[in-house]
Amino acid sequence: RNGFKKESFILSVDVGTTSIRCHVYDKEAKIRGSCTSKVVALYPEVGHVEMDPEALWKSFITVVKGAVQDAGVQMRQIEALGISTQRGTFTTWDRKTGVPFHNFISWQDQRAADLVKSWNRSCTMKPHFVSPFFQVRQAVAEGNCCFGTIDTWLLFKLTKGVHATDYSNASSTGIFDSYQMCWSGFLCSLVSLPLSIFPKVENTSHDFGSTDPSIFGVPIPIMSCGDCIWMADQQAAMFGECCFDVGDVKITMGTGTFMDINTGSKPHTSVTGLYPLVGWKIGPEVVYLAEGNAADTGKAIKWAQELELFSDVRETSAMAYSVSDSDGVCFVPSFSGLQAPLNDPKACASLMGLKPSTTKSHLVRAILESVAFRNKQLFETMLRETHIPITKIRVDGGVSSNDFIMQLTADLFGRKVARPQHHEMSCLGAAFVAGLGVGFWRTREELKKLQSTGEVFLPKDAHKEGAGCQNREYIHTFQSWERALRRSMNWYS
Ligand code: ADP
Repeated sequence: RNGFKKESFILSVDVGTTSIRCHVYDKEAKIRGSCTSKVVALYPEVGHVEMDPEALWKSFITVVKGAVQDAGVQMRQIEALGISTQRGTFTTWDRKTGVPFHNFISWQDQRAADLVKSWNRSCTMKPHFVSPFFQVRQAVAEGNCCFGTIDTWLLFKLTKGVHATDYSNASSTGIFDSYQMCWSGFLCSLVSLPLSIFPKVENTSHDFGSTDPSIFGVPIPIMSCGDCIWMADQQAAMFGECCFDVGDVKITMGTGTFMDINTGSKPHTSVTGLYPLVGWKIGPEVVYLAEGNAADTGKAIKWAQELELFSDVRETSAMAYSVSDSDGVCFVPSFSGLQAPLNDPKACASLMGLKPSTTKSHLVRAILESVAFRNKQLFETMLRETHIPITKIRVDGGVSSNDFIMQLTADLFGRKVARPQHHEMSCLGAAFVAGLGVGFWRTREELKKLQSTGEVFLPKDAHKEGAGCQNREYIHTFQSWERALRRSMNWYS
């Protein structure tokens, strides 16, 4: 490329909930340079979670430049750029000026919970008339209002004007019809949003256009060639875990837990809140996922750290193992309600069964157990609903570093669970898709070889592998926890 024969690399950025990370990958998928920046969340009111779009854009540029510098390479040695982003978080802006009308509304934001609950309770869905600011109304009338998730916003900024997204991101917004593969006119009319504000939906591996040369001071060949892919973070993680086949499961445990199963060429219709998503659309191939989530995983652990139950998260596994059980303490991780299969936005977080004998280690154990218990609930829902035989289970995300949670998850599933050495799967997955797109890597088999196995956690009763969720030691504890869960439900009604 450009007559430049030096070693080449793939650059990948993951815009997460707590941080933006950028890595430079070599041919062996090893990280050669990195840069990270914090994502600042704003909490203007209880239940409202926002982010400043311009601040996010600045952080994005900073990490791209920082990672290339850290790797000691030049921009023109970068073959392609992959970007994975947190999903559902959106804003609107003026197409002509590029100025946002408001902050990003985060996927964690709860302001629409009452409205959604009222819809779920009634048989008929009454349209809800959103009354936007005057400027937004005017921009909509003039055809200049752009709606976008984070990927769309970054693409718009990088290209100075392309308004597009990919199928994986679109299908994560809740207003895209994954069955018809288009924005849902029905859902848009329910919230009185005109279809004209939505971005064009393209394949996951698509030439989205050229980066404006002024952005990085010099023209950047990687981006000006358009070798740039965009993908929603969980779908990217699925690709990074090489979960290419039907029945492959990945569990990402970061701020929240996201469990995904590959359902192949058909979307799964759920009755208990699993979400049908487009995993990726590459060429003519469309892969669907069914996803369940638990919003407060790392969030609960962080909260415990702020309470000074421990000083470093790495201590928590040993603390949990230092006691034989939680001494009857149950923690319900529900700062943002309970998701599938409970689906209760009004549930409260709670600690029950406290005694004078309760120690910090018991509390920590109860918190870590609650993460594995939510995993068990999600996994059983997946088994019950999809009837797809599970082929493999791979785990990633910051919380997967925790051996106690990993072992308990394997025990409760009655199946082996693998933790690759590389935890940042969203970044790697976006790099994989981008690299395949430009021929940096050639086949998915090649990617599987690059993906290190890391550690495998076997269920305690190894002969029971595949026998289902039946760890006897935990039957009583799990039942007590379910009671605590029920008592925490519908708390804020
Ligand atoms: P996100 O991508 O959602 O920002 P990460 O995947 O980076 O999240 O995970 C960050 C979370 O992982 C933090 O909440 C942190 O407390 C938690 N974490 C990191 N290491 C451990 C550990 N060893 N045990 C438990 N939690 C951990």
